[in-house]
Amino acid sequence: MTKIVAIGEAMVELAPAGGPDMYRAGFAGDTLNTAWYLRKLMPKADQIAYFTAVGHDAMSGKLLAFIDAAGLVTKYIDRRDDSTVGLYMISLTNGERSFSYWRGQSAARRMLESDTALRAALQGADVAYLSGITLAILPDPDRARLLDVLHDFRSNGGKVVFDPNLRPRLWPDTKTMTNAVMQAASLTDIVLPSFEDEAAWFNDPAPEATANRYRNAGVDIVVVKNGPDQMLVAATDQSFTVAPTRITDVVDTTAAGDSFNAGFLASYLGNGNLEQACVAGAGIAGQVIRQIGALVDVQTELVTDR
Ligand code: ADP
Repeated sequence: MTKIVAIGEAMVELAPAGGPDMYRAGFAGDTLNTAWYLRKLMPKADQIAYFTAVGHDAMSGKLLAFIDAAGLVTKYIDRRDDSTVGLYMISLTNGERSFSYWRGQSAARRMLESDTALRAALQGADVAYLSGITLAILPDPDRARLLDVLHDFRSNGGKVVFDPNLRPRLWPDTKTMTNAVMQAASLTDIVLPSFEDEAAWFNDPAPEATANRYRNAGVDIVVVKNGPDQMLVAATDQSFTVAPTRITDVVDTTAAGDSFNAGFLASYLGNGNLEQACVAGAGIAGQVIRQIGALVDVQTELVTDR
């Protein structure tokens, strides 16, 4: 039995729903998306837990019910009296999407005021999964607390998997973001960055530079995703590229990276083959970007070789 704990923030999403000023409420979040796809792709006997905090209000309750209905383990999710779930709204102006956020009152920002709950969640776990957004939402001392827990988790044989998911708007400045991301990477076994973001914020001239930077920080396996272009895999004893299948009918790239990570991990944890894992990740992401929305139906055959 494999146990994975994804750590992060899930939010209420208000998306345009046809008519003027009509919106549909859903739930989304990068780490939740990955956990959601992992649940679909991993064998039933495995446990996929989501670690976050929510409030006691009705919307927090609905989010919890949503995570539970997805088959994810919710027992480590704290319910707080002092906060609620974050909210973002997608506005469409002449076909262009823009985002407004209300996340100051988010309970997830307070999920590491103490490390007791996360230590309990990681008890007996094989993999901890987090992203740069998980780091970004935490106050400095709480982020340090998270990294301490991950350090101890690794000392006990756990593996840490990290998607830098660089979102400068969530950080006071770029330097703080890049420092925090590299600090987390130094405690990480597998890093799954997207080249476009890394080029923008680390000034990497090519995917090789991204891979080298993380490898030099001590990461065992780096997979640099690059949209429709080939992925670069750099590991201790091998380095190679894998081209995703060309997809011409892309409708919505939301969660491409998140679902790739799930396909990659589910396959890699199954048989340890990095190339197959990239093909599996790209296969899932390729299905996700041909449909509207972050959480969509996917065929899972690609990942069942275990
Ligand atoms: P993110 O969503 O994090 O920015 P990327 O854009 O790098 O991530 O895409 C993640 C993965 O999704 C890619 O490695 C690839 O497998 C797949 N993908 C994304 N865009 C396309 C595309 N246009 N055609 C085929 N595959 C794609």
